[in-house]
Amino acid sequence: MKCFGFLFSVFAFFASARADPTWSEVGLAQLSDKNISPLGQTALALKPAEWKHAETPNFIYHFFHGFVAAPVSVEAEFYYRVIAKELEKDTTQWERKSHIFVFERPEDWKAFQQKAALDPWTGGIHSGNDLFLLRDSELKFKGRTLGHEITHLVLHRFFGSGIPLWLNEGYAEYASTRAYASFERARGFRAKPQSQAIAPTDFIPVGKLAGALSYPGEDKQVATFYAESEKLVRFLSATNKPSFLAFLEAMAKGNKFDNALSRTFGSRFTGVDSLEREFKVYASKDYAGE
Ligand SMILES: [Zn+2]
Repeated sequence: MKCFGFLFSVFAFFASARADPTWSEVGLAQLSDKNISPLGQTALALKPAEWKHAETPNFIYHFFHGFVAAPVSVEAEFYYRVIAKELEKDTTQWERKSHIFVFERPEDWKAFQQKAALDPWTGGIHSGNDLFLLRDSELKFKGRTLGHEITHLVLHRFFGSGIPLWLNEGYAEYASTRAYASFERARGFRAKPQSQAIAPTDFIPVGKLAGALSYPGEDKQVATFYAESEKLVRFLSATNKPSFLAFLEAMAKGNKFDNALSRTFGSRFTGVDSLEREFKVYASKDYAGE
């Protein structure tokens, strides 16, 4: 899935090239999961002699230099653990891994974009079980964009491709905000998850948000789409966590929003209207939690 959250600034996070302790660099033929998607094969076909490969328990990495890609593994595994715990899922026995392709040179990324027919502005793309991204050494690390993309990978691994757009983006924002705060805390920074208020005039009706099949056309509406989706995930999860997890399962299996809501939150909300009345008030407030 194409994301509004750009990836161009993710990688300078660590001054040194730390890797997840389980990071191990191996040849393509030695990877535990050699299933490369067609889009992945397109990437590897560009400069085929130069790609290197490595893996950690839940991810496989394709890259040009270890010191560039290894820091990604620290975040990838960290986010994976936090999100799996949040979703109450355990996949330690799974053999299929997500693949992360790390480009370094803008010209290589451009060539890949052209071959893969991606939008020219895309700084990173999540597609099924794969994440493709461009590392930009000019820019310093900015927050949680990698976490957002990793969340899409983890959601796809747990629930497949049936999750609707608002829920996929909303959950990715929600989880990466929370996980990033704990990532920062683990490294000794004071951090609390932040969530910005939605002005009532910008508020997208829940039915419209839930039914969106593509991103809004204007930048400002796109920002509201992400923020409000995150708020709705946060609101439902805070209202009743087990109900929210059941709701997520139901949506991933293709239930309609109102049916999934009545099946999982039926004793709390009489319908979408009653949810919206409460949610609109909730969304209009800033949030800074633990
Ligand atoms: Zn996204």
